[in-house]
Amino acid sequence: MARHGQAGDTAPATEQAPRKLDPHLDRYAARTEGMTASEIRALFAVASRPEVVSLAGGMPNLAALPLESLATQLSDTIAEDGQVALQYGSAHGVPKLREQICEIMALENIQAHPDDVVITVGSQMGLDMVTRLFCDPGDVVIAEGPSYVGALGSFTAYQAEVVHVEMDDDGLVPSRLEEALTQTAKQGKRVKFLYTIPNFHNPAGVTLAVSRREQVLEICRRHGVLVIEDNPYGLLGFDGQVYQALRATDPDNVVYLGSFSKTFASGIRVGWVLAPHAVREKLVLAAESATLCPPTLNQLLVSRYLSTHDWMGQIKKFREIYRERRDAIISALEQHMPPGCSWTHPDGGFYVWVTVPEGVDTKAMLPRAVTARVAYASGTGFYADGLGSRQMRLSYCYPTPERLKEGVRRLAGVLESELEL
Ligand code: PMP
Repeated sequence: MARHGQAGDTAPATEQAPRKLDPHLDRYAARTEGMTASEIRALFAVASRPEVVSLAGGMPNLAALPLESLATQLSDTIAEDGQVALQYGSAHGVPKLREQICEIMALENIQAHPDDVVITVGSQMGLDMVTRLFCDPGDVVIAEGPSYVGALGSFTAYQAEVVHVEMDDDGLVPSRLEEALTQTAKQGKRVKFLYTIPNFHNPAGVTLAVSRREQVLEICRRHGVLVIEDNPYGLLGFDGQVYQALRATDPDNVVYLGSFSKTFASGIRVGWVLAPHAVREKLVLAAESATLCPPTLNQLLVSRYLSTHDWMGQIKKFREIYRERRDAIISALEQHMPPGCSWTHPDGGFYVWVTVPEGVDTKAMLPRAVTARVAYASGTGFYADGLGSRQMRLSYCYPTPERLKEGVRRLAGVLESELEL
């Protein structure tokens, strides 16, 4: 079974002590069984060498950020609001920022009250808290197959069982969702929620078709299953298209996770959860016990940035950067990849999901790719059940278009030698 670390797919690698030398081995709680470094995280050390074109990590491209103006905003935040910014705050989060977040979510037709927003340390913390609130060991979480590696990490950390549901080019397949829910009910298992990334999926690069959204919600309602909608890429549609959130249609049965990581800056670590009222109260308690409060300085900086900067214009710049890179990687794939390979066509976000011909194992091939100076994330890391060996995720968000083209050319060369073996 694939193992997943907690840090998601964007954290730098850290040294892992060999398990047999660990004198604390007998002391760990049973839930730590599921906590091992993700394949992607383990790869960061080699993939970050400058000669390697890394298509592996999903690091946002911050080149377009106005750093000088942000430096001024940061120092103004401390000079003008230092007594608040450098102090503890509430676990719920800064009220003004929660109001601004409601305005952002209104772009996706969400009507929310700021009281129902809880600020988190990135949406990763939201995932952790939601799993902590809902999952006992053995409970089932339904997730798309493939799914976000950091979410799988949270689910395994709380000893939930992940059941994957197939996607196609239009995202999650409703009939497969229905089957999975019927099947798990027959097995007497308790499904706690559907975890879904409807827009510009990580890692699959697909978007849930508008015509399927109501169906997915209806199926979940009928089976008494909550929906966790994870939407960090929703405003990064390359044609400026913004989809109506699932939360907008079904406020009582959807918990929505948002983040400033992809639309502003990932290092600031500010995200949020929008939850039905009763859930929100529990979330605040869970957040309090996890961190006391999210960093006040970072929240005030985000809030000031949103009030003083043309943040929507900034998102447009990000979209242009990513669209140019998407175009570069897709045309390189078309030009270089050997016959029998296929890939998704993302309309937004950071990722292309590639399927290679039968007989190629992307995990086994990875060391050879790194020797050829290109890295990717092999597909198995995005499944909890060992699938994905003929898939890989290519992230086009960070390298320049030229590097992307060179990376795909190298990757195609590795695949060709693999196919000749
Ligand atoms: N969900 C998805 C689908 C992601 O791709 C990521 C980051 N790669 C996260 C959640 C976590 O984002 P953050 O904690 O930076 O908000």
